[in-house]
Amino acid sequence: MSEKGLLIVVSGPSGVGKGTLCNALVKNIDNLFISISATTRPPRTGEVNGVNYIFMNQENFEEKIEEGQFLEWAKVYNNYYGTPKEFVIEKLKEGKDVILEIDIQGAAQVKKNCPNGVFVFIAPPSLEELRKRIINRGTDNEESINLRLKSAKEEMRASFDYDYVIINDDLDKAVLKLQSVILAERCKVSRNKDKILEIIGD
Ligand code: 5GP
Repeated sequence: MSEKGLLIVVSGPSGVGKGTLCNALVKNIDNLFISISATTRPPRTGEVNGVNYIFMNQENFEEKIEEGQFLEWAKVYNNYYGTPKEFVIEKLKEGKDVILEIDIQGAAQVKKNCPNGVFVFIAPPSLEELRKRIINRGTDNEESINLRLKSAKEEMRASFDYDYVIINDDLDKAVLKLQSVILAERCKVSRNKDKILEIIGD
């Protein structure tokens, strides 16, 4: 893709605080949008369709895969998750930046199609702390907690393929780090050549 906006991919183990981080971030930075994923996972208490996720059944999801409506999709913890293509392309074309909060399989697909994206991995300070956060979230049963913790180790190894890693030991500091990454990426010469040429009138 050669769109004008910046595509930011944020991954990290379940419970690491990606959602909280990204929501705090969009309040601090303008022209930044979070893509809303589609999923076949049932809503958790308090989750709203069209806000947290676009909830759909497996048949609908598979139809959309066939129709090529996803920028990327993956099966995570036995459910489908995917990024609707239209919203992302539209925003990037307008020169707006978009965050995808997706798993490592989805991130690998995006890296193939959008190598200019910025890939950020959010890590917990320890696996023990991650366990505590998932339990405190109170949204997962024991089977789901164990599945998420088992995957966390493998996901952490995948961080080596990302551009940046942020250890989320303190929310405010982690927000500041993610904010710094995005602002620095926006200032890269390779993303600003047109602006320079415009200033000098070439
Ligand atoms: P949760 O069920 O805890 O909301 O999310 C489970 C995992 O699915 C998380 O790692 C999350 O980042 C990932 N995920 C959420 N949306 C998407 C998506 O659109 N695509 C992919 N590949 N993963 C997603």
